[in-house]
Amino acid sequence: MTSRREELAANLAEVLEAVDPYSPTLIVVTKTYPLSDVEILNQLGANNFGENRSDEGFAKSQAIKAQSKSSNWHYQGEIQSKKIKEILSWADCIHSLDDLRHAEKIDRVLQENSSSIKAFLQLSLDGDSSRGGLIESDLFPAAEALNKYRSIDLLGLMCVPPVDMEPALAYAQIASLHQRFSAEFPDSKSLSAGMSGDYMIALDHGATHIRVGSKILGERDYD
Ligand SMILES: *Cc1c(COP(=O)(O)O)cnc(C)c1O
Repeated sequence: MTSRREELAANLAEVLEAVDPYSPTLIVVTKTYPLSDVEILNQLGANNFGENRSDEGFAKSQAIKAQSKSSNWHYQGEIQSKKIKEILSWADCIHSLDDLRHAEKIDRVLQENSSSIKAFLQLSLDGDSSRGGLIESDLFPAAEALNKYRSIDLLGLMCVPPVDMEPALAYAQIASLHQRFSAEFPDSKSLSAGMSGDYMIALDHGATHIRVGSKILGERDYD
């Protein structure tokens, strides 16, 4: 019987080998999986972890950070105003920023603590608000407006393609928008895109950060 450690090691190695030519930042999405899995992955060398729920991210990050090895924590879930303080207490990077009111509150909290955070603006290709993100026409003005929030370091764009959209089509749109965005905002050239089902396509279209969960940890029962 293979142990959980062997299983995670094999899955992680497979993903790392596939993405190696692109040298992206691999964020291992550990949502819904236990702390013991994060510990194993951290021991195996993974040090970027993604979570969708603030309470879960808080608990896991506290435990891992207490165990010495370096780790970076990424919040990629929907942002609720009342959770912002908590998110900022553990996350090193927010991938799901899509509302300037949230940006204002984030900046206020961080300024009070003389702190800062990395962030991606989330792009929506179809405007479906249930998955979050800003449509293209709102994206550029939002990035412009973020300039005034000194504590927010805008790394670039994040996108989750609509499930019912042909990946090739979705990523062609993302790549073209990413190019224009990078030209307009040269300090924010990163692209967080690509999950278990599409990370190779995402890398072929310029992704610098990929967020991979089930391919490494196994299928989740729920999100
Ligand atoms: C769950 C999730 C992922 C990881 O998805 P997998 O298909 O398990 O790789 C990546 N990004 C976001 C925003 C997610 O919610």
